Amino acid sequence: MTQNAVGVDFAQRLTDNPTTAERRAAILEDPGFGNYFTDHTAVIDWTIDAEGRGGWHQARIEPYGPIAMDPAAAVLHYGQEIFEGLKAYRHADGSVWTFRPEANAHRFNRSAKRLALPELPPELFVESLRQLVSVDREWVPNGEGEALYLRPFMIATEAFLGVRPAREVSYRVIASPAGNYFGGALKPVSIWLSEHYARAGHGGTGEAKCGGNYAASLAAQLEAEAHGCKQVLFLDPYNDNAVEELGGMNIFFVFTDGRVVTPALNGNILHGVTRDSVLQLASDRGLSVEERKITIDEWRASVADGTLAEVFACGTAAVITPIGELKTAEGSLVSPEPGPESVAMSIREQLLGIQTGAVEDFHGWLTRLA
Ligand SMILES: *Cc1c(COP(=O)(O)O)cnc(C)c1O
Repeated sequence: MTQNAVGVDFAQRLTDNPTTAERRAAILEDPGFGNYFTDHTAVIDWTIDAEGRGGWHQARIEPYGPIAMDPAAAVLHYGQEIFEGLKAYRHADGSVWTFRPEANAHRFNRSAKRLALPELPPELFVESLRQLVSVDREWVPNGEGEALYLRPFMIATEAFLGVRPAREVSYRVIASPAGNYFGGALKPVSIWLSEHYARAGHGGTGEAKCGGNYAASLAAQLEAEAHGCKQVLFLDPYNDNAVEELGGMNIFFVFTDGRVVTPALNGNILHGVTRDSVLQLASDRGLSVEERKITIDEWRASVADGTLAEVFACGTAAVITPIGELKTAEGSLVSPEPGPESVAMSIREQLLGIQTGAVEDFHGWLTRLA
C-alpha cells in the first residue's frame, strides 16, 4: 500500500514479467503514437451499494493486460464510456511533470455527467497518474518532442442489457510512449472538409470526450484518407456552416492584422486544454484573441483577399500543427507554410518549452508526477 495526499491507498501488484531494458530502449527509439504500452495500469472501481450510494474503491496498480469483462457489459453495447488524454514530460534533471492535469480532471467530470457516469474526485484523478508514472517512470522518453501519453478512461462494466446508467463502473489509466504525432518532421498537414457527416449536434455529446464521438468521426476519416488527408474538419451545417473542429483537435486562424480567432465553445466543441493555453499565451503576447463564430465562407473570403495568415490545429497529442491546405469537394484552400516567427510556430515552441521545463512556467501549469 502507498499512502498519499488524497488519503486513498493504492494497492500495488507489480508485473512478474516487466519489459526488459533492451526491449524498452528499442521501443523508445521510435515509439510512434499509441503503439506500445507500459508495464502497468491504474484501476479504481465504482459500485452502488444497497442504499443506492455510489462510491469509488479498490484503487490499485496492476500489471498491464487484458480486462476480463462480461459480454453483456453496458460499455460494449451502449458505449457508456469517456476518456482523457494528457502527457508526462521528462525534464533535464530526470523529474517527470504533467501539464494542467486539474483541467483534464474537471473536463473528465463534465464528460462523466453527460454520459451519466460517476464523477471522480480531481485529486484522485491526479493521484492515479502519479501512481502509474511512479512505477513506470523508465518509460517516459527524453527525446525532443517526446513524452509519455497518459490515457485515463471510464467504462460501464455492469452486465445488464436494459437501458439505464450502469451501476458498476471501472476507471483506468494506461500509458503509451509517444513520438511526434504525425510522424517525421513537422510539416503542414492537409485536412478534408466533411460535408456529409457531422461529429456533433446541438444537445448531443460534442463537448464530452467520449468514444462515441470518435466512432462517429471514422466514416469521415475514411473519406479524408481517400482524398489524401489525415484529418477531418467538421462544420455545423445548421449554423451557416460554422467551423467547429477537427476529429480530435481544435482549430485556430491568425489574420494578417494579428487577430487570433478560434470558434467559440458552443456546446458542440471540445474544451481543449491546448486551445485554452494557446488563447492565454496569445493574449500574453498582446495579440487580440477572439472566440467567435467563423464560417467556411469567411475562411474562403479571407484566403481570397489575402487577409488570412495562418491556420493551425491544436491538441495534446500533436501540440500545434499548421494546416497547409483544406481540401473540399469544390477545390482547396491553401495557407502559406508558417515560418519560425509565425504565431503557430512560436507559440508551439513556447508551449513545448514550458512542458519540458526549458521555458519559465509563469502560469503555474506544471504538476510534478515523479
Ligand atoms: C481531446 C480533444 C481535443 C484536444 O483537447 P486537448 O485538451 O487540447 O488535448 C480537441 N477536440 C477533440 C474532439 C478532442 O477529443
